[in-house]
Amino acid sequence: MVKRVEIDLVPDDVWRCLGPAGGARDQLADDIEWAIAEAATLAEPAAVTRALSIKAIGRGVVEFDGGLSVSGRMLPHLMEGAEGAVFLVATAGDAVGSRVSELFAGDRPVEAIVLDAAGSAIAMNVQSKAVTEIADERKGAGFLVGPCLVPGNEYWDLEGQRTIFDVLPAGEIGVRLLDSLQMDPQKSQSAMVPFGAKLQILDDPTSSPCSRCKATRCPMRLEPYEAVWNTDDLS
Ligand code: SF4
Repeated sequence: MVKRVEIDLVPDDVWRCLGPAGGARDQLADDIEWAIAEAATLAEPAAVTRALSIKAIGRGVVEFDGGLSVSGRMLPHLMEGAEGAVFLVATAGDAVGSRVSELFAGDRPVEAIVLDAAGSAIAMNVQSKAVTEIADERKGAGFLVGPCLVPGNEYWDLEGQRTIFDVLPAGEIGVRLLDSLQMDPQKSQSAMVPFGAKLQILDDPTSSPCSRCKATRCPMRLEPYEAVWNTDDLS
């Protein structure tokens, strides 16, 4: 399903992509407001989604109907109990990136950097809205929903992009996968959201088992481990 998405950026969205500004925050306030307005004019926010049912979950691999699969040591754990997953690609379009290149070429690096951050913020915003919509729709249908899983992380390497682009007609929103496994336009995001009536690892941290799990180095930990102390042991 292809959707055009309405986006409302606020300065904090752009700051999250720019990183800590320290004393420059006030000095850049006007540039941030300009970048938000410019990005809103240029961007073509859109998302494409598709749900697939799971056929089997094995060691290091999750197989979907249609012969597609995703591989990663942690994915079977993160998708334990899943009946399916919704794949998505979200984008801000390519016009923001083109304008950023023009600004760099015109020796206007500050505006280029701030507009680049605004473009990233739009792509993240589109992804976030798409994920919220997917979660609401699946929960409305009686499923539990897992955390948004993104290729290029410790739990799922970048090769996962190939499956996402095999599943989705991302060309319909103008996004293609490069040989480097990066997306073009660069201001794009991809992900997979598991769902199932008996899903174990959930998007709501307070309902997931992480607080009782001792895997301290887990890259998907959703909340801190809460060791249960027996005060008798301390005496
Ligand atoms: S912290 Fe434990 S329960 Fe939570 S995702 Fe990691 S391995 Fe699973």
